[in-house]
Amino acid sequence: MNEILKDKVAVITGAGSGIGRASALQLARNGCNICLFDLKDKRTKEVEKAIHDLGRKSLFVDVDVSDPQRVEQAVQTVIEQFGKIDIVFANAGINGTVAPIEDLTPESWDETLSTNLKGTFLTVKYAIPHMKKAGGSIIITSSINGSRKFSSFGMSAYSASKAGQVAFAKMAALELARYKIRVNVICPGAIATNIGENTDRTQQVDKISIPVLYPEGSQPLEHGPGQPEQVADLVMFLASPQSSHISGTEIYIDGAETLL
Ligand code: NAD
Repeated sequence: MNEILKDKVAVITGAGSGIGRASALQLARNGCNICLFDLKDKRTKEVEKAIHDLGRKSLFVDVDVSDPQRVEQAVQTVIEQFGKIDIVFANAGINGTVAPIEDLTPESWDETLSTNLKGTFLTVKYAIPHMKKAGGSIIITSSINGSRKFSSFGMSAYSASKAGQVAFAKMAALELARYKIRVNVICPGAIATNIGENTDRTQQVDKISIPVLYPEGSQPLEHGPGQPEQVADLVMFLASPQSSHISGTEIYIDGAETLL
């Protein structure tokens, strides 16, 4: 087993499912101890156990990433138990409500922005004081919907939150470089996860048809969406010293979907 992250400590938000889960397992396979930040769910227990089975330490913290007090407390719990943070993967996110802008309620807008964008800010903010001494790597999950693809009709709040994450990551990369903290943002295309489970699609959204060579949702490299494990390999690279000169970069992982 590769031990390139031996004895490192990672905080991963949204670690109970999809991209966060796959990345937690991939980092653990490479020697990392994992702090799982997520809403309480039986899936998170399963991830915690799988990390233990790999011989690593894992800690689940029940935290809503949009709640400043709970994020601060969660980080404090990590420090009490592990004494440090080397890697942050700010990944928790929701699609939120899919609706035309005129029908989108301010409450729905706030929910999406609070989880995706404010949650990223809070996770990074409270981790920074514990990373300044030794440096580290911060990875943020945005989306192709934040910068390259704007044809997912009804997802204006989601796209705005994802674009905000890209700008935030670049500001953070510059601000934190003096502490040897690297910050990068990944932009996945469609990935087969559970994100659709809590998506509100009850409202009517008129689709504008765009002629494409490939069926909707397909990626030139794949017949369907990508897999969370493929994203986890990128997260692993950005978390490891193998990417020691990479910071402030947005990396697309979309099977060439945004070339269509
Ligand atoms: P997922 O639903 O499988 O996992 C998301 C996790 O985030 C869940 O475990 C959920 O409980 C957690 N979460 C949601 N709200 C939270 C909150 N307030 N506090 C703490 N945890 C919370 O979805 P996924 O696809 O793995 O999503 C991970 C990230 O990837 C998201 O930021 C999403 O926007 C992004 N993304 C996904 C896709 C895709 O096609 N799946 C594409 C591009 C970007």
